[in-house]
Amino acid sequence: MPPYKLAIIGYGKIAQDQHLLAIQSSGVFELAAVTSGHAKTIPGVEKVFSKDAQMYAEAPEVACVAICSAPAKRFDAARRALLAGKHVLLEKPPAATLGEARALVNLAQSHGLTLFGAWHARANPAVVEAAARLKGEQVATLSVTWKEDVRKWHPGQEWVWDAGGFGVFDPGINALSIVTAILPAEVFVRTAKLSIPSNRQSPIAVELGFGSEPPGDILTAIFDWRQTGPQTWNIEIQTRSGRTLLLTEGGAKLEVDGQTVKTAPSREYPDLYARFAELLAKGASDADLRPLELVADAFMCGERQQVEPFSF
Ligand code: NAP
Repeated sequence: MPPYKLAIIGYGKIAQDQHLLAIQSSGVFELAAVTSGHAKTIPGVEKVFSKDAQMYAEAPEVACVAICSAPAKRFDAARRALLAGKHVLLEKPPAATLGEARALVNLAQSHGLTLFGAWHARANPAVVEAAARLKGEQVATLSVTWKEDVRKWHPGQEWVWDAGGFGVFDPGINALSIVTAILPAEVFVRTAKLSIPSNRQSPIAVELGFGSEPPGDILTAIFDWRQTGPQTWNIEIQTRSGRTLLLTEGGAKLEVDGQTVKTAPSREYPDLYARFAELLAKGASDADLRPLELVADAFMCGERQQVEPFSF
């Protein structure tokens, strides 16, 4: 019964920027412990462990975990949590590969545990509104522009450049999580161009061409980490009925035919925890792998071009 005692696994930027406050203000979850490879003490947190196995042994009251580590570590941490009988919230992306993600879905199901693959960008009210307005429509064009400064948004994060680190797909998958949530058609990758710095494994920029069923005319996405100054997180959709929907600010604001119809302060993480609580109460899971599938397909069919080396 609530409050659910929850542990954070992986104490990096997102755990500190968003999860802590969302948990503390949830009224449903209580932060019982944190597991971190580098943080030895955390103000206000009594139980800090360096290994999750130690936490499961010494803090048996922990009923669920939020895994906020880098994606490469996500599968092993989630598997250990499920085998320890804990419900799991996964930060996005749900795993480093589709195979890992599917294995976690099956493991959670076979143990009767909740697995929540969180897509924070989907929690915006404007995204929900866009999905409602596109219901029954046919999409003619889709143009995703997701450009930001990697030095501002991922300062010093070397893991994003490793194989399995996602590169610019780390923010780009947020756009894909919105696209797959709001489009009334199934989208899939037809073409991809990956620009990879000569000293790195993962792309700094990506251009995608999508197909859809039913077919659209021109469906594209551009992700770029080389933008300096303000970021651009926009999705523009034209429907066959002549409507133009423009989502900006990462999904926080929706304009239809030039008129703002929804804009709300970001409640992404409080809403994610509310959804997690709902799933726990129902004994259900929610792990939509479509955004990860699009990224995997882009790597599978993408042309690679080498670009100038990158360093922070
Ligand atoms: P991050 O800050 O690089 O943290 C990733 C991991 O690195 C942490 O879990 C932590 O693990 C370790 N770490 C962090 N700071 C460290 C330090 N000073 N010294 C040594 N190790 C350190 O990455 P993140 O931005 O939190 O991203 C984690 C996941 O959240 C990613 O999948 C990302 O896509 C997602 N996410 C991020 C954002 C964002 O705005 N940053 C937004 C939404 C989702 P230990 O505690 O175990 O050492």
